Amino acid sequence: MVLPGALPAFLVQHARQVLAIAALAVLWTMETVAPMYPGRTRRLSHNATNLLLALLNGAIAVGLAFGILGVTAWAQAHSFGLLNLMALPAWLHAAGALLLLDCWQYWWHRFNHRVPLLWRFHAVHHSDADMDASTGVRFHTVEMLFSFLARLAVLPLLGIKLPELLLYETVSLPVILFHHSNLGIPGWADRSLRWLIVTPWMHVVHHSRLQPETDSNYTSFLSYRTGSSVPSGCRKSRGDRPGPGRL
Ligand SMILES: [Zn+2]
Ligand SMILES: [Zn+2]
Repeated sequence: MVLPGALPAFLVQHARQVLAIAALAVLWTMETVAPMYPGRTRRLSHNATNLLLALLNGAIAVGLAFGILGVTAWAQAHSFGLLNLMALPAWLHAAGALLLLDCWQYWWHRFNHRVPLLWRFHAVHHSDADMDASTGVRFHTVEMLFSFLARLAVLPLLGIKLPELLLYETVSLPVILFHHSNLGIPGWADRSLRWLIVTPWMHVVHHSRLQPETDSNYTSFLSYRTGSSVPSGCRKSRGDRPGPGRL
């Protein structure tokens, strides 16, 4: 028997997972109706592979969450970290945390391309030949472990609270799934959205086969208007891809 209020409580507690499943389902449907690159075969098995890897990583992450909980609680109790140096109102603390976390994600992503050991594992994300929304959760388990270890140091230094980290991950995840999707959104929509968030046309450059293009467009949530064009090299390296004329 389902207890009254049990479903809303479950949804709040597992907001990130529920949101991820809902976003993947919506994007899957939209990719079917209006794909950027049509004619994909084996979509089910392709998605299943990426999602199984995500499930494995998610199960391990549950165990690691206690470490994150410990360091963020310690930083808060000792007023340690950049954001805790001043008595900020809660909304300003949260806004600062979202921006700092997004900056950290940018630099962490950049490190993953520049440090050979990190690239060895991050290359798994880039090895997906048929990029779609499920590519957004395709990461080597060792990359996730490295990211966890780095966060153990970075989160207290920045003074991030656990709810702020959860908020950042909850709002950024749908954007990450979206910009990996094989969704043929109109040029005007892409141009409008990229003022705020990373779009599929921005991130497709990051998955180019040309290394100079792969080593660009590192943003994953807020766009900051970086990498806002589709370089010609991207078109040359992927003959099947429409060029910027479509934008
Ligand atoms: Zn990358
Ligand atoms: Zn990517």
